[in-house]
Amino acid sequence: MLLSSKLPGVGTTIFTVMSALANEHGAINLSQGFPNFDCSDRLKALVEKYMRLSYNQYAPMPGVPALRNRIAEKVKNLYGLNIDPETEVTITAGATQGLYCAISAFIRPDDEVILIEPAYDCYRPAIEVNGGIPVTYELSAPDYRVEWRLLERLITWKTRMIIVNTPHNPTGKIFKKSDWEELRRIAEDRDILVLCDEAYEHLVFDGKEHLSLLRYPKIYERGLSVFSFGKTLHATGWKLGCVVGPPDLTREFRKVHQFNVFAVNTPMQHAAAAFFEDPNEYLGLNEFFQKKRDFLLSAMEGSRFRPIKSEGTYFQLFDYSAISDEPDTEFAKRMTTEFGVAAIPVSVFNSSHHDDKVIRLCFAKTEETLARAGELLRKI
Ligand code: PMP
Ligand code: GLN
Repeated sequence: MLLSSKLPGVGTTIFTVMSALANEHGAINLSQGFPNFDCSDRLKALVEKYMRLSYNQYAPMPGVPALRNRIAEKVKNLYGLNIDPETEVTITAGATQGLYCAISAFIRPDDEVILIEPAYDCYRPAIEVNGGIPVTYELSAPDYRVEWRLLERLITWKTRMIIVNTPHNPTGKIFKKSDWEELRRIAEDRDILVLCDEAYEHLVFDGKEHLSLLRYPKIYERGLSVFSFGKTLHATGWKLGCVVGPPDLTREFRKVHQFNVFAVNTPMQHAAAAFFEDPNEYLGLNEFFQKKRDFLLSAMEGSRFRPIKSEGTYFQLFDYSAISDEPDTEFAKRMTTEFGVAAIPVSVFNSSHHDDKVIRLCFAKTEETLARAGELLRKI
């Protein structure tokens, strides 16, 4: 049979590749983003409790009501938006599935979608598999700032969606109020949806606030926010998250979600609802991860790596141009195989492969791990 791929450019993700290389060479894995410490015992006990209470059959398609109510309460308290959990919150199998369904629900063949690169890797294939056309606006190190007037020039009558991500993976940059004002100006009088990936909503540092799309009612009319509880719960393996959007968008979103996954695992949803009852479980994450960022930054002091300070996420970028002029993909491999620390090369998030000689390190690790990594990297 002659098979013609719908995604000929897609291979194995850089996260899988680098984690495998790290394992193969016994390197410290600061590449793929996941904590090397466990989620809380209280959370695990809650999962067990709900399993034993026999919450083991299908959840309702949009998610367990207790969890959706909890999200609505949290959105009201943190972002000042009143939402109806019945019609505006859908629990998803992680942010990835939420993003996929949001893109599939609205993107038709030949629709253009503006992507800001470097971009997290799951947006582009979701657009392409639906026949959409990704249109790229590329940021540059070290500020990675969006010049909205330039981005606006990419808009045509075929533009259907703009995808944004704050806090931003891989750069660690966060949106300011002015970014949202510009985005609102651009999207407002056009038929353009805004999809905001807020996977790291609770990981924002130095006293700054997370500016969720949900703080901007005018954008919310045409917007969907995507969240990942994997980051909030230190449980990336659970693949749990949610999508918040106004009723008309959520209705369309659920038409795809319903047949993509139908519903997400039940006991974990109940456990998350009970866990989030205490807001300190997520409000303390900023400080917790800021400490880790600062620990990594001080462990790297005296090295030839130059940090581009992270404002959010659990990633910290380093410019290595004082060490080598080899491509970042080669350098990241060599870091793993020769120097014992696995990193992610940032150019893989650029479809142009534009290379600023910057690598990404994940600091969601114990201080012991970060200290050992620093020790190895200071020798280079
Ligand atoms: N968006 C961004 C920016 C991410 O970094 C990640 C992965 N950590 C995801 C989405 C996917 O999240 P999940 O594991 O919940 O699918
Ligand atoms: N989001 C994680 C990262 O940026 C990776 C998740 C995955 O492996 N798909 O490292």
